[in-house]
Amino acid sequence: MSNKRAMAQLLKHLSSIGVTHVPKVELAKRRVSAARGPSAPAAVDSSVTPEQPSGVPGTSRRPTKPAPVTAAIKPMRRVPGMLDAEDLHPSSVRVPELLPEVVRVRERAYQTREAKEEALCGLKSVVAGCQRCPELSSRRTQTVFGVGNANARIMIIGEAPGQDEDEQGEPFVGEAGQLLNKIISASQLRREDLYICNILRCRPPGNRNPLPQEAANCREFLDAQIHVVQPEFIICLGAVAAQNLLGVETPISKMRGQFFSYGSSRVLCTYHPSYLLRNPNAKKQVWEDMKFFMKELGVELQ
Ligand code: SF4
Repeated sequence: MSNKRAMAQLLKHLSSIGVTHVPKVELAKRRVSAARGPSAPAAVDSSVTPEQPSGVPGTSRRPTKPAPVTAAIKPMRRVPGMLDAEDLHPSSVRVPELLPEVVRVRERAYQTREAKEEALCGLKSVVAGCQRCPELSSRRTQTVFGVGNANARIMIIGEAPGQDEDEQGEPFVGEAGQLLNKIISASQLRREDLYICNILRCRPPGNRNPLPQEAANCREFLDAQIHVVQPEFIICLGAVAAQNLLGVETPISKMRGQFFSYGSSRVLCTYHPSYLLRNPNAKKQVWEDMKFFMKELGVELQ
């Protein structure tokens, strides 16, 4: 039987069982179906006929269940340094169980510099053994706990250690650290009078931003450091520090030039020195922030 005659018979049959509309079939697909021979006529080929809702009069054909789109997608192998959606989605963040050693530090009040130094020393050794972030702890040279005056009035919080910090075990010792030193001395402050630390105590690979889970993992240590030092002021350098400490998503540009509260500390947020290295024009704004900050301490900067 010719294709034309077979088609005419099929249309007549469809009409007799109540099918009044035959969807348009693309020519290319018709050719493929035709090539399969008369046993697979084009009009009933499941590859080209749209699914009919069940219960449509005149058809007993069950809708073909589409194959799940993900069926052919193999799970990606976890590559160190590569992020997936779960890493980035805040709803996946789990607050880790508090460490008893850290809880004990936070239960005490510290009045003297010596007592604070002793507490920070104990915390530092706990942090040195921390493996809460598997990727970071397996790649670090060492943890970067914090440095400076345990009795400081001012605490500076940055983002995370970079390569230089990872190698030397001290925050802000690289190029950004040199710029921070200049900002500190121009503000008539001394680095040794301040306490400096980061949101994270381990270097993220490639200096990427800390993941929400990593920041949550390390938060216990940051809060313990703040509890021991009891700074009157905190300066957050960059959006990562400001947003993580204060639990907001406000852009850093909108957080500048005002004080926030965190516990008993007053918090100023400004740009990170690394940002200034990439955008020197923003130095002017950081200088305005430092003038605003120092005025609060009774120092008028020019
Ligand atoms: S970043 Fe903090 S929580 Fe994560 S492994 Fe390092 S010390 Fe532990």
